[in-house]
Amino acid sequence: MKIGCPKEIKPQEFRVGLTPAAASEAIAHGHDVLIETGAGLGSGFTDADYITAGARIAPDAVSVFDDADMIVKVKEPQARERAMLRRGQLLFTYLHLAPDPDQTRDLLVSGVTAIAYETVTDARGGLPLLAPMSEVAGRLAPQVGAWALQKANGGRGVLMGGVPGVRPANVLIIGGGVVGAAAARVAVGMGANVTVMDRSVPRLSYLDDIFMGKLTTQYASAAATAALLTDADMVIGAVLVPGAAAPKLVSRAQLSTMLPGAVLVDVAIDQGGCFETSRPTTHQDPIYEVDGVIHYCVANMPGAAARTSTQALGNATLPFVLALAGKGWRRAIESDPHLRAGLATHEGQLTSLPVGEAVGLPA
Ligand code: NAD
Repeated sequence: MKIGCPKEIKPQEFRVGLTPAAASEAIAHGHDVLIETGAGLGSGFTDADYITAGARIAPDAVSVFDDADMIVKVKEPQARERAMLRRGQLLFTYLHLAPDPDQTRDLLVSGVTAIAYETVTDARGGLPLLAPMSEVAGRLAPQVGAWALQKANGGRGVLMGGVPGVRPANVLIIGGGVVGAAAARVAVGMGANVTVMDRSVPRLSYLDDIFMGKLTTQYASAAATAALLTDADMVIGAVLVPGAAAPKLVSRAQLSTMLPGAVLVDVAIDQGGCFETSRPTTHQDPIYEVDGVIHYCVANMPGAAARTSTQALGNATLPFVLALAGKGWRRAIESDPHLRAGLATHEGQLTSLPVGEAVGLPA
């Protein structure tokens, strides 16, 4: 199969759908790989790296979309890219169709067969193509929070690990899933005093087991949150209610109960945010202050670690890329119900019920 990988054109997107290593694997399986020139540069991969891997370099996106049987990307296709998709072609990428009726309609009109990374499942009920990005965002959260805590950035001027004789930072993590556990790992490693809250007692038990006393777990009641907020130097919001907007767990009124210069890192901002005062920010201008509390609310945190994120995403997508290219999409989804869960559109038909409900189209 001809696998095409265009350069991402969404603003501030530096990841790429195929690494040279993934291209090389696909080529070893007998496929032809076509990469748009410069597609990997944002992640530190040159055209020469892809040529060494055995790929062909295309001069522009049109050549990739025209030639390829399957398009592998990162972000949802932008309007200009959607106009190049066609019936009989396979698109494998993040789509996030539910809040995006325009994109949904364009995919249906194009006739493309689209499989969404974010709805592919695994045998444990997880989302294997979302998890790597949650790992990245979670590990980044204490790092960016520590930067915001520095005095020059408006923070309290508290060092994460303290020093001998001076207490470390108190870090409160609300939501102990993939993001929360990854954030806890880094915050513990930085020497902070870490508490993780969750609504799931089994999840708290798991965290208690794996961290072996290096953090405190706390059931996430409103009362416990209110009490812990008052001496937190950093609060990391990492909750997810699948398919729903993030619940607001810290109100504006509660900010005045917090330590001046404390930092809120709202990783759940891509689901609307879990603090009442959160609004999306960008890597260029990541923080703002409300009532003396610094907010960090970047909606695409993994972009800051584009190379790591590209490699982590590539590791997770490669087995599916090989299955789709090797068997053809129909046999691949027939033999794998988890990949089948990713099918979003096919020849003008919407195949995802939740997306249909969200955008008001029959599925
Ligand atoms: P996850 O499903 O692995 O974990 C979410 C956890 O939140 C679960 O353990 C759940 O029990 C808990 N939870 C739900 N409601 C709660 C409540 N009211 N109080 C306390 N805990 C509660 O999800 P995840 O992969 O860790 O993702 C967390 C959030 O981070 C999501 O909103 C996701 O979209 C977001 N995210 C953002 C970025 C970014 O760049 N900003 C990147 C990756 C993920």
